[in-house]
Amino acid sequence: MSQKRFSSLALTSFFIATLTIADMSAASSTENKGEMVIYSSRKEHLIKPLFDQYTKETGVKIRYVTDAEGPLIARMQAEGKTTPADMFITVDAGNLWQAQQKGLLQPVQSEVLNKNIPDHLRDPNNYWFGLSVRARTMVYATDRVKPEALSTYEDLASSKWDGRLCLRTAKKVYNQSLVGTLIARLGQDKTEAIVKGWVNNLATPVFSNDTLALQAVDAGQCDVTVVNTYYFGRLLKEKPNLKLKIFWANQSSSGTHVNISGAGITKYAKHKATAVAFLEWLSKPEAQKIFANVNMEFPANQSVKPSGVVASWGEFKQDQLNVEAAGRLQGEAIKLMDRAGYR
Ligand code: FE
Repeated sequence: MSQKRFSSLALTSFFIATLTIADMSAASSTENKGEMVIYSSRKEHLIKPLFDQYTKETGVKIRYVTDAEGPLIARMQAEGKTTPADMFITVDAGNLWQAQQKGLLQPVQSEVLNKNIPDHLRDPNNYWFGLSVRARTMVYATDRVKPEALSTYEDLASSKWDGRLCLRTAKKVYNQSLVGTLIARLGQDKTEAIVKGWVNNLATPVFSNDTLALQAVDAGQCDVTVVNTYYFGRLLKEKPNLKLKIFWANQSSSGTHVNISGAGITKYAKHKATAVAFLEWLSKPEAQKIFANVNMEFPANQSVKPSGVVASWGEFKQDQLNVEAAGRLQGEAIKLMDRAGYR
């Protein structure tokens, strides 16, 4: 990024920050504090328990629309200033980053959010905040792989995994984010060599989702895969005797790749103060427990411990790189995976 572009960006954010304060005082005197509207790409059964609990505690009515993130982002763009949406909830920092880049979010200055959500899980300019953590790591067949043989994402490129690896498609944002963070840490050339190594080691064509990749390991088609751990948790519920186990990647180096589900306040929110209060509530322990548990994820608020089966997977070191890198490097990651033959 050139120096000139950087300073104009800095000026723009200063201008927005100034506007925000003016907007907020205007909005708080006129807005109806008893209601708000949320657009969510998180599925209804994962978010409704939280909406219900908040309504019960505060009386605030929450109306919501759920859809995939693409259509919701397109809808907010088309609606512009007339959007009814006050808050956008989605998964993956890559998607939140896209919404911010398209000018659909506004920054929020909140001591509560800054205290409850660690730096690496929120936008450096406060446009969005992580609310739960999803870890993307190795799952292996316990009868064919010794955990000592596993170490890092990088090592999955080595020839010892030839014909033993299963992966989900490169088209999924989760893998684009993983590769984006590898680029941030290792640079283009090293990352491309690693991704080529993964492709060489594939035992099967790539799968359309994480569950299929896990089932392939279970069926003996391959020995190890890389998935978000809640998919492992879901499969384990169906098949408690699964001979698969989680391995926490990169514990002696960068830490396991994490991403978030999270939220931002829309640029044209009509109920900004109400939406910010709800966002702050979502970062507090009571809501964090619900938010993480509904999808077997990890709380973003580090003072809240995971529970149930998730706790049984043990503690692990998270990659501390800001998840914003996943969005910023998404385009590069897509091109790199294509060059490396990862489809
Ligand atoms: Fe998912």
